[in-house]
Amino acid sequence: HTAQILGHNHPKVIEVVQRQIQRGVALGAPVGVETELAELLCQRVASLDKVRFCNSGTEATLHAIRLARGFTGRPKIAKFEGGYHGSHDVVEVSVAPPIDEAGPEDAPHSIATTGGLSVNAPGEVVVLPYDNEQAVERLIEQHRAELACVILDPKAGIVSIRPQFVQAVRAITKKHDVPMILDEIVGFRVGSGGLQEHYGIQPDLTTFGKIVGGGFPAGAFGGRADMMNLFDNSGPPTGMSQSGTFSAHAVAMAAGLATLEQMTPQAYAHLNGLGKQLRDGLTELFAKEGVAAQVVMLGSVFSIYFSDMPVTNYRALAQVKGDPDNRVFFALLARGYYLAHGLGMNALSLPMQPDDIDGLVEAVGQSL
Ligand code: PMP
Repeated sequence: HTAQILGHNHPKVIEVVQRQIQRGVALGAPVGVETELAELLCQRVASLDKVRFCNSGTEATLHAIRLARGFTGRPKIAKFEGGYHGSHDVVEVSVAPPIDEAGPEDAPHSIATTGGLSVNAPGEVVVLPYDNEQAVERLIEQHRAELACVILDPKAGIVSIRPQFVQAVRAITKKHDVPMILDEIVGFRVGSGGLQEHYGIQPDLTTFGKIVGGGFPAGAFGGRADMMNLFDNSGPPTGMSQSGTFSAHAVAMAAGLATLEQMTPQAYAHLNGLGKQLRDGLTELFAKEGVAAQVVMLGSVFSIYFSDMPVTNYRALAQVKGDPDNRVFFALLARGYYLAHGLGMNALSLPMQPDDIDGLVEAVGQSL
């Protein structure tokens, strides 16, 4: 799931994890390592004044949304059709809606993704389409008085989202005074400043997960000091709070810190170079074999789709799912290459070398 950017069993991660286990694991108070990780995140990611830790991406989006509601006093959120933010009620809406129930492309219906949600959940969500700035502006303008936030999953390595579209979402949310949350849980895969550096935007809040725990369960959220201060209970009561038994778990913090420290500019150049090599190699292979297929790649996260229709939004993505990806998945597994089931959101890791990429391209050719 893209978390182990250093691969399996990295010596530096093992070393700090073992040391942290000896020093203390779940002490219910800051132990130092979480502060170091917080400082590193705030140094690397431009929009972060302050950051708080939790145990998963799900918790990060839950708390960021709660903060936006508390800050604005508004009840609803806007999310994108096909966007994924974890498994709490308000974000499990229109994650993978059946197209025939999803309504107009430029004004999607709000549809529960799983049974068991609060009956109120879909009604609390305004669903926005990817790749359509005009519709986004119209819907936000229409609902702005009740919107606590717009949360954007940029679908890194899954859907080709135009940087201009992400920039437009930032400009529209700013214009209408609705806080923007950028979900960077599949983050730190392009560069050390996060996806926001890649897109050239400053969100109000950002959520993190996966790599931030170096392979252990962790999440984080942070951003504007005037918003984050509502969760600061060291002074007068703010009326809001956030905590958790295992939040900022020392082992996850140590692993996350060691992982991010390995991700130097050279490391990113190596990984992004492998990503480009793979995209070029597969694109050439599909052309040579006359197969209608494409690669969506961002940094070192990629998806393979057996369709030549550009995958630029959820409706396009929903149409390319299915055969023959299962057969290719198993054929690759038999050749020693473990991709994600469905061939979406695969991740390269730092120990890989150009030979590994050549081998994968060759194996995809044999699998076809
Ligand atoms: N947001 C995004 C964009 C994700 O990809 C994920 C996990 N795949 C989450 C949120 C949820 O994170 P977690 O699984 O740690 O709860």
